[in-house]
Amino acid sequence: MTIQRITPVFVEFIPENIEQGKLYISETYQTAIHRCCCGCGEEVVTPLSPADWQLQKGVNTVSLFPSIGNWNYKCQSHYFINNNKIVWAGKFNQRQIQAVQERDRAVKQRYIEGRNRARSTVLTNAINWLANVSRFIKSLFR
Ligand SMILES: [Zn+2]
Repeated sequence: MTIQRITPVFVEFIPENIEQGKLYISETYQTAIHRCCCGCGEEVVTPLSPADWQLQKGVNTVSLFPSIGNWNYKCQSHYFINNNKIVWAGKFNQRQIQAVQERDRAVKQRYIEGRNRARSTVLTNAINWLANVSRFIKSLFR
């Protein structure tokens, strides 16, 4: 059965039993999961990150952006979760799906590159710090 509303459930760990009509959100693990709103029963995992989905919290309501497109499932459902409401969107054709997937890949690539840059800066700083410490220690014994 198609559902029109979804109830957010904040959890630390995603439960084993995913109930239809509930959006389980683990902020600790930056993941949300729900059963496809068309009623097909497929579990839809939406990682929460700047490169994946963004969760917007209201008073007892949530919204997820961008839309959820279950291209990999038979139903190919496409909908938005907007203040707990399921807003059904048109089905995409093959070319539109490809365009979305390519955009997602590009966004993800940029995000990962940015993160790696940040990480290598941290590493460089750590190495420099170690070098300074070892220079200091050596100077004590000079
Ligand atoms: Zn479905």
